[in-house]
Amino acid sequence: MKGIVIKSTGSWYKVATEDKTIIDCKIKGKIRLDNSKSTNPIAVGDYVFYELEEANVGVISKIEDRKNYIIRKASNLSKQSSIIAANVDRAYIVVTIHSPQTLLSFIDRFLVSAEAYDIPCTLLINKCDLYTSAEDEETLQNWETTYAQVGYKTMRISTVTGLNISNLRDELAGKTCVLAGNSGVGKSSLIQALDSSVHIKTTAISKSHNKGQHTTTFAEMYTLSNSGYIIDTPGIKAFGLLDFEKEELGHYFPEIFKNSHTCQYNNCTHTHEPNCAVLVAVENGEIPISRYENYISFFVDENTKHR
Ligand code: GDP
Ligand code: ZN
Repeated sequence: MKGIVIKSTGSWYKVATEDKTIIDCKIKGKIRLDNSKSTNPIAVGDYVFYELEEANVGVISKIEDRKNYIIRKASNLSKQSSIIAANVDRAYIVVTIHSPQTLLSFIDRFLVSAEAYDIPCTLLINKCDLYTSAEDEETLQNWETTYAQVGYKTMRISTVTGLNISNLRDELAGKTCVLAGNSGVGKSSLIQALDSSVHIKTTAISKSHNKGQHTTTFAEMYTLSNSGYIIDTPGIKAFGLLDFEKEELGHYFPEIFKNSHTCQYNNCTHTHEPNCAVLVAVENGEIPISRYENYISFFVDENTKHR
């Protein structure tokens, strides 16, 4: 029988079947795994085949090939990594213009990762009920123009007024999605707004500090009643920049990649080279300046330097 892994504790897995029964599963002896470097063989979002041992308890015998997956290195020095989520259809980054302000560098860093994982991404601009000034509206339109120009969908939402929540709910039906964003932007509120029956786990301690920090280091998957799955990532660091050669960075800015084909040099870094098509595109406004600036800042960032 087949199901989707909705929770992993390391040795036990909660598997949801199509009719939403939850089966507690262990792994059968040795399953052959592609990613032997990974510390966890099965992740949230994996489709698995299992055999029932008793009512609601089973043994996983096979993992279906993954469409994509998000990994996190155990540490900087370690070659080991853990898979945070598998088979992600789309990533949603929740952002706010203020209260708190989301930095464009934070957004672009996330988008680079999503590109590297080959996961399409939408920006959810939350707390739109608060953006009443002309200045806020201008910032809103700026963000929308910038990201539309480079190919990302944006959606204005408010969990307070319900703006676009039902549209988003429809979009999520039957999909597996990752939800990301800084603390305080309204991720928990959004999950609640999408489906009030979902129980979001936060620790009693962090609640008393009013921070809403999540208890698990494993990703948590929430099942919406419309069969959508939302994966709440344990901290944004888990979704930071991947390890790749500096020269590859431009591949993960779609607008830079698109323009780079007509650069004079094959290995153009788009920083100083003569006849760089990217620099021309920045100059004439085809590439938003904030995007290019963030490309440069990631380029010089030590963390992006080497494998
Ligand atoms: P999380 O840390 O991303 O999970 O954020 P929370 O869901 O805990 O929300 C942080 C704060 O923002 C809470 O006080 C929410 O009530 C508030 N909040 C969330 N969504 C909205 C919104 O659309 N409008 C306004 N005005 N406040 C919101
Ligand atoms: Zn170039």
